[in-house]
Amino acid sequence: MNAPLNAAVKPIANSIAAMAPDLAEWRQDFHRHPELGYHEQRTSAKVAALLREFGLDRVETGIGVTGVVGVLHGRGGPGGPAIMLRADMDALPIHETSGVAHESIEPGKMHACGHDGHTTMLLGAARHLAATRNFAGTVYFCFQPAEEGGAGAKAMLDDGLMTRFPVSRVFGMHNWPGMPAGHFALQEGPVLAAADEFTITITGKGGHAAKPHLARDPIVAGAALVSALQSIVSRVVDPLEPAVISITQFHAGSTHNVIPESAILMGTTRTFSDAVQRLVHAEMDRICAETGRSFACEITLERSQTPYPATVNNPEATDFTEAALRDIFGDGRVTRGHPRTMGGEDFAFLSREVPGCFVFIGNGDSAPLHHPAYDFSDEAAPAGVAFWSGLVERALPLG
Ligand SMILES: [Zn+2]
Ligand SMILES: [Zn+2]
Repeated sequence: MNAPLNAAVKPIANSIAAMAPDLAEWRQDFHRHPELGYHEQRTSAKVAALLREFGLDRVETGIGVTGVVGVLHGRGGPGGPAIMLRADMDALPIHETSGVAHESIEPGKMHACGHDGHTTMLLGAARHLAATRNFAGTVYFCFQPAEEGGAGAKAMLDDGLMTRFPVSRVFGMHNWPGMPAGHFALQEGPVLAAADEFTITITGKGGHAAKPHLARDPIVAGAALVSALQSIVSRVVDPLEPAVISITQFHAGSTHNVIPESAILMGTTRTFSDAVQRLVHAEMDRICAETGRSFACEITLERSQTPYPATVNNPEATDFTEAALRDIFGDGRVTRGHPRTMGGEDFAFLSREVPGCFVFIGNGDSAPLHHPAYDFSDEAAPAGVAFWSGLVERALPLG
């Protein structure tokens, strides 16, 4: 029986749906062998080998240490417009407890953010598009290292990514637990936060715990500092502007009866705009300096060298992506206005270079991202391949 023409949900093309067993096999293999940022040797070698097997026109490796770019020309060969599709390959330093058959064989490492699935979906699209080539122009399939805090996208840019593979648009996709598998959501403007990490060192004067008057206690100074830093979000930043300051580590001392010499605090800040990020940084610097003075301790603050900017979706690229999604899948699988999240994402470096759109694909009822029981949903993968392929055919239409 034929489905009505404007059905709320359209089926995925047979040639892509039939790819599901291969997608699951690649994905579960990546999952079994997770590699941390800039150590994706096995993963990137497999990605490059598969791209060559699919018949891509060129495969470049070693970009940003372990990054890979596959080059595919449409009918008519090189020339014409070009776009970039990006996936990430790295895993997290988490010990997996999912209990699935394809559980990580590397103790203390797992694909807890679904980058195994992201890599797989982009590989599936490369295979489909290399076989069909129903487009005109060039697609660059970008597989990046070290998304989880290592700024792998920036490392690829520093290695000339956008000059070697110039494009007018860049697209990225992340899975989203709690949204039905294979459902899509997107929103224009900032969708993921600017994120950076900091380390605060408080140096006081150690001494006997029974003689605090002869010491300068870095723990008391640190406790005051933790509270004072929270006042930036509650009292300094505009309440209509999102901001987070989280102290996630507080290390000091080694026994009951000694005031330690120093204390170390670490954490992360999240904001949606450069202006708020600058304000938060300036206030943190000020509060550290003033707290140091009031407790007669020396307080220094160091930030990560490559803070992640906010991921901001270009309105026009978002409209285009939404229209493509509705055309490919029907309205029943697409939500415009996905809630923003204060998570960070280094796709931001790419979409600062050229207009871009970062979309979310549902991962079904899974454990949350970065949870030791998380697993990417193989059920979502064919939809991801259909999206990437359909997007390319619409962004680079045949004449
Ligand atoms: Zn993550
Ligand atoms: Zn991720």
